[in-house]
Amino acid sequence: MNEAVLTESERFSQIVSTLSIQQMPWWAKTWAQINQQIENQSLPHAFLIEVSEGFATDALLLNIAQRLHCEALIHQLPCGKCKSCLQIQQGHFPDLHVLQPPAGKEQIPIDDVRNLINVLNKSAHSGGYRIVWLKDAHCMNHASSNAFLKTLEEPGEKTLILLQTAFSSKLMATIRSRCQKVIHQPLAKNQLVQWVRDMLSEKFPHYEYDQLKIELAVEVADQLPLKALSLLSDNSLAIRNDFFSLLKNIEKRPKNVDAGHLIHQVLQLQDVVSIDRLVHWFGQYLVLGSKDQLKAHQARETSERIHLLQVFDSYHYLQHQWQATNKPDKSLLFREFLLNWIAILAKLSHS
Ligand SMILES: [Zn+2]
Repeated sequence: MNEAVLTESERFSQIVSTLSIQQMPWWAKTWAQINQQIENQSLPHAFLIEVSEGFATDALLLNIAQRLHCEALIHQLPCGKCKSCLQIQQGHFPDLHVLQPPAGKEQIPIDDVRNLINVLNKSAHSGGYRIVWLKDAHCMNHASSNAFLKTLEEPGEKTLILLQTAFSSKLMATIRSRCQKVIHQPLAKNQLVQWVRDMLSEKFPHYEYDQLKIELAVEVADQLPLKALSLLSDNSLAIRNDFFSLLKNIEKRPKNVDAGHLIHQVLQLQDVVSIDRLVHWFGQYLVLGSKDQLKAHQARETSERIHLLQVFDSYHYLQHQWQATNKPDKSLLFREFLLNWIAILAKLSHS
């Protein structure tokens, strides 16, 4: 297998940013609908899209912008090569206005919203659609949201607003209700495996793919297409194996374990994969382990069942803390969680 080709994460992000709409079958239905609305001149003022790592929402939004401005549409698809398509792709098209929290900031300041409103009051450069791309829309504070709401109510002629967020529930209800929601179509596992194979053979012609490895990647990625592809583009699957072995070692002899040392080893994996991924994998480890346990013992002992519940509770608590604060110290939280997990295991093996 030619691993060298796939370790270049730069190439991976390049792939994501250049995905054409035909290469994202999970958007097919949405695309057909939006296309129809463009043809009928019945586009809504705003779309709301929930970001999910794995579905290339950026690529969809860029394709929509290109669809509206492409100078050489091919069967209603953007050509990807004309001046407008390229400018949109590179993020400097004069009628594409991106609004997002400034670097290092958590909120979208009201002044930025006001500037945008001023721009929208002038006419479009191209004479066509003005497109506003609001990234991390949930980062608008109360004042920005209120100012933005006015724009949403009266955006002016030929204006399309694309709201993108990972937390649509944090948006003002009045904002949400003025947007048309964009939803992906889930793909079946075999369709996803096929998609990954197609992408690998197209983008990495020298990659000798291994069917089992691809299936595992799709499973580990919770069936998120781009996540599966990114797992294959580095050595994440091997690291996940190491991580699971470490956890298994702890589980085997929780009382004799040098907790500090093992936790250190676990947290060291952060150098190669993100802590979010580690925590996510821990969740998968729990689910897989509890299935085995239930199968093996039918959870015969009450203490085993209580142990499982305690661990799941504490995992949910960890996830809650993750999301409740704006900038949680993830390493510290995960360390506390692991210590607690080892304590629960030790208690169980004692009883
Ligand atoms: Zn074009």
